[in-house]
Amino acid sequence: MTATVGLNIVIAGVLGLLALLCAVASLALQRNVPLAWVAAALAVGTTQTLLLTFAAGTPLEFVSAMVLAPFGFWLANNTIYCLMPDKRLRQAYLAAFSALCAVAVGLFVAGAPFFFQVIVVQLACTLAMTDAALRILSGIKWRMLDVSLLLVVGALTLLRAARLPLIAFYFGPDVGFSDYNGSVVELTLLAVESLVTLGIIALVISSIIADTIATYQQQSERDGLTGLLNRRAIDAMAGQAGPAGGAVIFCDLDHFKLVNDRYGHQIGDAVIKAFAALIERTGHQAGRIGGEEFALLLPGASAADARDVAEMIRRRFNELAHPVLGATERLSASFGIGAYQPSQPPASAFIRADNALYRAKAAGRNRVEADPSAEQPEPSGAREQAA
Ligand code: GH3
Ligand code: MG
Ligand code: MG
Repeated sequence: MTATVGLNIVIAGVLGLLALLCAVASLALQRNVPLAWVAAALAVGTTQTLLLTFAAGTPLEFVSAMVLAPFGFWLANNTIYCLMPDKRLRQAYLAAFSALCAVAVGLFVAGAPFFFQVIVVQLACTLAMTDAALRILSGIKWRMLDVSLLLVVGALTLLRAARLPLIAFYFGPDVGFSDYNGSVVELTLLAVESLVTLGIIALVISSIIADTIATYQQQSERDGLTGLLNRRAIDAMAGQAGPAGGAVIFCDLDHFKLVNDRYGHQIGDAVIKAFAALIERTGHQAGRIGGEEFALLLPGASAADARDVAEMIRRRFNELAHPVLGATERLSASFGIGAYQPSQPPASAFIRADNALYRAKAAGRNRVEADPSAEQPEPSGAREQAA
């Protein structure tokens, strides 16, 4: 008995500490919602463990087993909801879960036999876990993390479901709260469940950390207005030399100040987005490197290939009817191309592309200019790669 109390206090301490850590991490990560649900589920688990230990034999123990258990499973299920993309079953599940909880409370208030109350409560817990397992299954990406999560959540669902036939056939309809709660069967199931739950907590937290890192990485690499790569990401990519040479294209919208002055900054932004969508559709690595300045990296391409790409973008942008501008009004952009040799990084062509862009502006805009040295020898490997 003392050993059980000691173990329960350790479990409550671990759960409580984890709840605190998750709550702090949730706040630190700009109120990360899945972490907040984990913290809440862990706080309920801590409370339940403490009540089962220190309020044994009192109505509080009964309430903790009958009310806090389904509530804890509901909170845990919400974490899975946040992590998985599929939200379709949410309403149906919520309705069924809430109905079962209401029936359990109704049976409790009406003083119905414990057998009926516990069956309904266990059904609610099993339903919460089944829904979580199904949700993981439908949104699974078959990463190691997802598969492990599916396995442990599946195991916990089975452990919960195992109580239903056990209560019906092993204990029978005359079972009392203390027969059931202190039984070897229930204690064994609880011990195994505690271990599986720790596994779930570890995997859920790992999953949240992995998703959060991926989100921040994505945000740190992307331009907020257009979704293209930002200057930092383009610089990082352009700093890496590959075995083949290639080309870079710099683009700058023509007389863009006039667009802002005439139509306002918002419409200017819409034009920037339209241009970004055009260059993104080429399939090449494209980034916004300044206000209305863009760069495309074309590893393995020759200056002639890059000229074709730039010419196509120039023509399409110039033909584009912007719904916000006058019906006949067309915009244009200028392009500069620089090439780099095998074993050089794309960044080594930036100055040449910039100079070529400057020449395109000076020559009247709405045109493509290439660095003169770029259009002579083709980078070796370019043609082999294209072939
Ligand atoms: P040029 O043909 O010589 O390039 O003329 P320009 O007017 O386009 O000149 P420049 O490229 O120097 O001007 C860029 C203008 O782009 C200045 C600034 O007001 C505008 N701009 C920069 N960033 C943004 C943005 O995020 N949104 C909007 N709407 N305008 C921006
Ligand atoms: Mg400009
Ligand atoms: Mg500019």
